[in-house]
Amino acid sequence: MEADTIVPPTADSADAADAAPPSPRTRVRRHPERGVYDRAAIEAILDEAAICHVGFVHDGAPVVIPTIHARIGDALYLHGSAASRMMRTLAAGAEVCVTATILDGLVLARSVANHSMNYRSVVVLGRARPVEGREEKLAALRAVVEHVDPGRWGVARHPNEQELHETLVAAVSLGEASAKVRTGPPKDDPDDLALPVWAGVVPLRMARGEPVPDEPRGQGPGGP
Ligand SMILES: Cc1cc2nc3c(=O)[nH]c(=O)nc-3n(C[C@H](O)[C@H](O)[C@H](O)COP(=O)(O)OP(=O)(O)OC[C@H]3O[C@@H](n4cnc5c(N)ncnc54)[C@H](O)[C@@H]3O)c2cc1C
Repeated sequence: MEADTIVPPTADSADAADAAPPSPRTRVRRHPERGVYDRAAIEAILDEAAICHVGFVHDGAPVVIPTIHARIGDALYLHGSAASRMMRTLAAGAEVCVTATILDGLVLARSVANHSMNYRSVVVLGRARPVEGREEKLAALRAVVEHVDPGRWGVARHPNEQELHETLVAAVSLGEASAKVRTGPPKDDPDDLALPVWAGVVPLRMARGEPVPDEPRGQGPGGP
């Protein structure tokens, strides 16, 4: 897949990005020209991405778990059952790597080696912080619900004390985050341009389908 040469980071390549990376470990080294460190761009990707993947070490081995996220300001919130290994690990203050990806297109080149994808992705590195204060916990849960379906918090029943007790919430700061963005057509080798092979980009997007009501049970206001 798009086997370009690996470009070592240089002052020039850092200048090509929107801003300096917040730490050495968030500097995009592979295709540094695709690195984006602008906070607004990072936040926009996190807000648009439907889900994220949370990487952490458990019993000495790495695991990566898909889950829902939401952002409020500098904090990326994750939530889940108090019985969840992931949430118990995060609530204990584990080092984590959270990634979120938006797939924008399939990049079909004339050679298989130069196939690629157009994407916007974010990697957040940091130590998870347990969210125990009632106000922040509720705000985080509201943000998660609104991230999934904007307006839903206003129509669905809010968590009761038991549900709050059974739910763990953790936050990760965006202080150490990077984005990587690929756009545009395939990058074919000059010798391949004359090959009789269709090449180009197939745009992809995630879209909501037609809602299916939970019938025959009663319906109220607040439908999608
Ligand atoms: C949909 C999709 C498909 C991809 N397919 C492939 C593939 O098939 N093969 C492949 O090798 N790579 C693929 N990539 C790119 C991949 O995400 C890595 O960027 C790449 O493999 C280099 O990894 P690295 O650890 O060597 O990066 P390095 O550049 O060494 O990583 C250094 C730091 O840069 C940041 N960084 C790296 N990658 C990303 C990223 N994607 N988003 C945000 N920050 C980042 C992180 O902070 C990381 O710690 C794909 C990416 C996406 C989003």
